[in-house]
Amino acid sequence: MIGALMPLAILDSTNTLLRERRERARALGNDLVSQGVFSLHCSCGNCGEDPLTAAFPDLATQDAAALVAFATAQCASDARRRCQACGKAAPLDGLRLHLWSQQRNGDGVFELANGISRWLFCADAAAPQVLAAGDALITTVLCDQLLRAGSFLNGLEGREEDALALWRRAAALMPQAPMPSIALGRAALLAGDEAAALEHLRNAAACSDGHAPACRQLGALLGELALRHRDGELLNRALDWLDQALDLEPGHPATSFALGRIFVSSGNMQDALDHLAVAATHAPLADEAEHMRGVALLQLGRADEAHQVFERLALRHPQDADALRMRAWTRAKSGDKAGAVQELDAMLATNPEDEETRNFRDLLSDDEG
Ligand SMILES: [Zn+2]
Repeated sequence: MIGALMPLAILDSTNTLLRERRERARALGNDLVSQGVFSLHCSCGNCGEDPLTAAFPDLATQDAAALVAFATAQCASDARRRCQACGKAAPLDGLRLHLWSQQRNGDGVFELANGISRWLFCADAAAPQVLAAGDALITTVLCDQLLRAGSFLNGLEGREEDALALWRRAAALMPQAPMPSIALGRAALLAGDEAAALEHLRNAAACSDGHAPACRQLGALLGELALRHRDGELLNRALDWLDQALDLEPGHPATSFALGRIFVSSGNMQDALDHLAVAATHAPLADEAEHMRGVALLQLGRADEAHQVFERLALRHPQDADALRMRAWTRAKSGDKAGAVQELDAMLATNPEDEETRNFRDLLSDDEG
């Protein structure tokens, strides 16, 4: 009786669950699991939320109607859950599902209470906005869900095919959204099917304008293809997309990283430097960006600065043979060949089987003559 009168508690944008979910989704970049929160009302006086983690079954991500059917079934009229206060089975007041949406930059919240369903949308800390419960919104959120679930599965050994199936479904749900095609294009590129990759990227290019993450990823992937084939026209297209990404999100480290990588790989060292310096400010990209910056500096004849870069990298990663070799190499190029040979000899003393280091050592010795 009381349950029938009491709606779900007002959605609180400082709610820990909501915040955690958003942070988790951002940190992982994907998330197979969405949060469902049941609200229950017990005869012992306890009423409130009973958090649990609900993994959606396959069918719930088929389309908007399937998700609503799934949620409704979870919250059938006689549904009960264990009361956390007294341990008895208490009737449910309603169900709230949180679905983080990258494209909307916020949480899609689907609520079912008293048999009535509604969609809310929470963008960051702003108060929840009530949006028309249109299929377009649900479809957007589902598409994001499929993309993230696919990325998650793709990281698990042996689940790559499942990931592809989810991305294909996302592409079918929203043919006008670029990200599913980009995910499919990247997978095709990794699998070595360049014709298929180009086809997916062409689809993505038709709808990426104005969409910063799409411009960035499309540009980076086209750049990989262009460098592989030394295709100048493709390279220009890649640079156009990355330029647009920078216009939309100035100073974005991943865009700078992609540009720096293209410039280094195509021998344009001077243009690479500034972009790599920006990318090096972002932890996950920093080491690779610094490494490329060191290579670029060396190519430009700035061996002292290159040596400083590899000195820092070697201190940060004392086990990284690549960084240690480059530190020795740039030390030699800065004029201290004896010191460099000493460093390489020390590496060979601990690991005599290290052929690569031996090659560096031999090259330096040949140079001496
Ligand atoms: Zn109770």
